Amino acid sequence: MSFETLGLGPELLRAIAETGYTEPTPVQKQAIPAVLAGGDLLAGAQTGTGKTAAFMLPILERLKPGLSTSPSPARHPLRVLILTPTRELAAQVEEAAKVYAKHLPLRSTVIFGGVNINPQIDALRRGVDLLVATPGRLLDHAGQKTIRLDQVEVLVLDEADRMLDMGFIHDIKRVLSLLPANRQNLLFSATFSDEIKALADRLLKSPAMIEVARRNTAAETVAQTVLPVDRGRKRELLSKLIREGKWSQVLVFTRTKHGANKLSEQLEKDGIDSAAIHGNKSQGARTKALADFKAGQVRVLVATDIAARGLDIDQLPHVVNFELPMVAEDYVHRIGRTGRAGSTGEALSLVCVDEHKLLGGIEKLLKRTITKRVVPGFEPDPNAKPEPIVAGGRGGGRGPGAGRGPRGPRPGGSQGRPSGSVRGPRAPRSRRSS
Ligand code: AMP
Repeated sequence: MSFETLGLGPELLRAIAETGYTEPTPVQKQAIPAVLAGGDLLAGAQTGTGKTAAFMLPILERLKPGLSTSPSPARHPLRVLILTPTRELAAQVEEAAKVYAKHLPLRSTVIFGGVNINPQIDALRRGVDLLVATPGRLLDHAGQKTIRLDQVEVLVLDEADRMLDMGFIHDIKRVLSLLPANRQNLLFSATFSDEIKALADRLLKSPAMIEVARRNTAAETVAQTVLPVDRGRKRELLSKLIREGKWSQVLVFTRTKHGANKLSEQLEKDGIDSAAIHGNKSQGARTKALADFKAGQVRVLVATDIAARGLDIDQLPHVVNFELPMVAEDYVHRIGRTGRAGSTGEALSLVCVDEHKLLGGIEKLLKRTITKRVVPGFEPDPNAKPEPIVAGGRGGGRGPGAGRGPRGPRPGGSQGRPSGSVRGPRAPRSRRSS
């Protein structure tokens, strides 16, 4: 099946051809006709499945008749609102809008917290047809009356499960209350917890439902190995692996922001170009770290789980769990960063005695054991005693961001509003692995 048969117009088909896509992905095949038909949609699809184009292309096609080349703001009312959980994802989604709308007079912009609000206000004032936003900053604009939402025709909740995990439910409800009742709603989520179902029930009217193969399949296609090692020797082992394996691009996960910074600094001292990416970094620093990594100027990107969400980095050959995540599902998300789209990938986990319980939880979720391989010279001490892992920060790490407990849902939904986006580690939750 080709894109030509899906009902998209020549401007979009040209843009698609220019990006080099030849065939729609499964989620695109199903979502594009459904969205073009104008109804609501509930889609189960993860990052990496082509979900962004799956909603963006038909939305642009539907917008097309009303798009104007006029500079007048009045000719560019906000008609499409896309909410995403993180700044990075927001930026990537808006970038996608620009790419696909290359041959259409679309005005789009992105707004998120952590950056100066004034340029956003200016952009909104000039008129925007399509807006990608994180919920907190969007509400800031709504509160300051620097945005009008009364002409929104299409609402997209992208990675809705992540938004709920990050405590955005109250923000989302507030946004919904500001939108016109008559609109098209598209909800994309990787998982379907009871919370997501409740949100879908409230939001969607007789939705089309599609579900594409979960990227959980990464758990089957990615070569996974556990390297048992002592707590204090992980960094040394990682440096050796990078050097001897001549790895040019590796994404390394730590549990905490402090851990990410510390590891990145240590790797730099070992002569390995590295950058950390997490919620405490300024937006500029995060964007630069990602760009440098993509450009190959930085070999190692050290990230926390939340900062890594939605990062569009394709076909990473190596992912390393420097520390295992507290939540087993995050392991699957992490290793899903490698071996995408048929390319082979390798996920290595450096596991010390403190983490055996976490490893057990992951193996239970995967329904199999992960191969263990001891690296000669790094044999773990058989007498080492496990130390407790303090949620949100390893015991002993006392830097900024370390040792903070996990947070529960935000009371009242207004706390910490101005940051608008990435909000620190989320509360432990019981989520189905479906
Ligand atoms: P997403 O799931 O939206 O994050 O997309 C994952 C990646 O797939 C992005 O880098 C897209 O540019 C790419 N992509 C989307 N649709 C297609 C397609 N039909 N063919 C090839 N690549 C695609």
